Amino acid sequence: MKPLLQVRDLQVTFDLGWHGRLIAVDGVSFDLAHGEFVALVGESGSGKSTTALALIRLVPPPGFISGGRLLWWGDGEGKPVELLQLSASQMRERRWRDIAMVFQGAQNALNPVMRIAEQMIETVRAHHPMPREEILDRAARCLRMVRLEPSRVLRAYPHELSGGMRQRVLIAMSLLMTPRLLILDEPTTALDVITQAHILEILREIQEQLGLTMLLLTHDLAVVAKTARRVLIMYAGQIVEEAPPETLFEIPYHPYTRGLLQAVPTLRGDLTGKRPIPGAPPDLRHPPPGCRFHPRCPYADEICRRVEPALEDVGSRRVACHHWQRVAQEAPAYKL
Ligand code: SF4
Repeated sequence: MKPLLQVRDLQVTFDLGWHGRLIAVDGVSFDLAHGEFVALVGESGSGKSTTALALIRLVPPPGFISGGRLLWWGDGEGKPVELLQLSASQMRERRWRDIAMVFQGAQNALNPVMRIAEQMIETVRAHHPMPREEILDRAARCLRMVRLEPSRVLRAYPHELSGGMRQRVLIAMSLLMTPRLLILDEPTTALDVITQAHILEILREIQEQLGLTMLLLTHDLAVVAKTARRVLIMYAGQIVEEAPPETLFEIPYHPYTRGLLQAVPTLRGDLTGKRPIPGAPPDLRHPPPGCRFHPRCPYADEICRRVEPALEDVGSRRVACHHWQRVAQEAPAYKL
């Protein structure tokens, strides 16, 4: 598949002054192909939101992109545009138009005293001068895509809509400039299970209809089981496993992925075997030597404590673990 965006050795550092430096994203590389639905999964603090913010060059200070390349192939030229080389104004033009992002918890950031129509008009005009009627036409089309009734929603204030509706309004807003890549940070968190499923179904539909590339950030592996075509697992600022969901759930190669799967409750499954991963993610100002997961890993041995495992290609997957063969042999099959 043709790449739309290639992320290479991305590094994001936070300069904490007296408290030292923290590398929140460390050597992250992956591709997003045209029309692909990819999930980036990890516990909170794993670096997935910072990675996403780096893709649109909006890492908040004291953070900054300290290394790597972002190669954008979406212009259809023979060679990619290096997003990190663009000026601030050139990058601003590309946000929303090429890459849009729905931020975590953003449904609560809608302006409470403005009707949805005005907020959608303002969003477009911040990036592109366009007549009001044309924007409202677009807004109505985008709202229908997320299964909302434009005549009702455009006139509404945010408090007149449910949490799920507000989230869908934001997804519709992000589609206003017809971006090529849409990044969604935890779009279903804080919503009930039925609304979550509904929103995921809508996202899948939009992605297929528009041939959009989507990057979905979530801590919940159950969310990606039926949605994503490829899953990237992130731990302590690094990608530790990458695979299509069906193979990932059948046989996880990385103990962290296995831990995430073991922690997922299912509606029909037996809850007695469910347990969280013991311990906590490391303090990234002082990451542990060797494999960053070793203090929490039941497979850890001497080599794990000393040598950092490389992310290696294993067939159609990638995994960063010294003992992935053993983990794969012992892992039970998971059903989500
Ligand atoms: S390298 Fe070692 S510590 Fe790290 S995940 Fe693999 S087995 Fe566990």
